[in-house]
Amino acid sequence: MKPTITNPVTLEHHGSYKHLHRQCARVREFIETHWDKILPMADIPGDLNIRLRPLPKRRIAGNGSLATGVMLDISRGLRDIISTLMHELVHVEQFKQGRLKTTCVGRKTVCYWKGDCWGPMRLPGNTKRSADKYDEQPWEKEARDRQEKMTIGLEAMIGPIPNDIL
Ligand SMILES: [Zn+2]
Repeated sequence: MKPTITNPVTLEHHGSYKHLHRQCARVREFIETHWDKILPMADIPGDLNIRLRPLPKRRIAGNGSLATGVMLDISRGLRDIISTLMHELVHVEQFKQGRLKTTCVGRKTVCYWKGDCWGPMRLPGNTKRSADKYDEQPWEKEARDRQEKMTIGLEAMIGPIPNDIL
């Protein structure tokens, strides 16, 4: 099974992102080529939707859930993008296995981890305190712990992944 890789932003229509065309094509090809090795690293659906796009704010490197799939910022180095992919795949697994759940309460997304309510979902934010609060959420800890191991595991099979931007 192959992932569905889309690029919902038509890069042609975003003049400032034109330079990312080659990087976008390269990331797509990389994921497709190595998907058979990436897929067994987490408990995820094989036909996962992966969206590639430049993120102008550069605040987050990606996001992932079972419902929406994975979104990755392509305006970063290749290895960082693949490491972020691994991080987001862990989140997809957490949702798939029901360890992480979210519900909408008004305009807020409330998170449950293994049945315990953790309150509204936090984003990394701009201050050290908000970044720390974000990092200490258990689903983020797990994703952070596993992403580098998974990336190194992939590199053990295919060789080092360069971190440049084409
Ligand atoms: Zn995360």
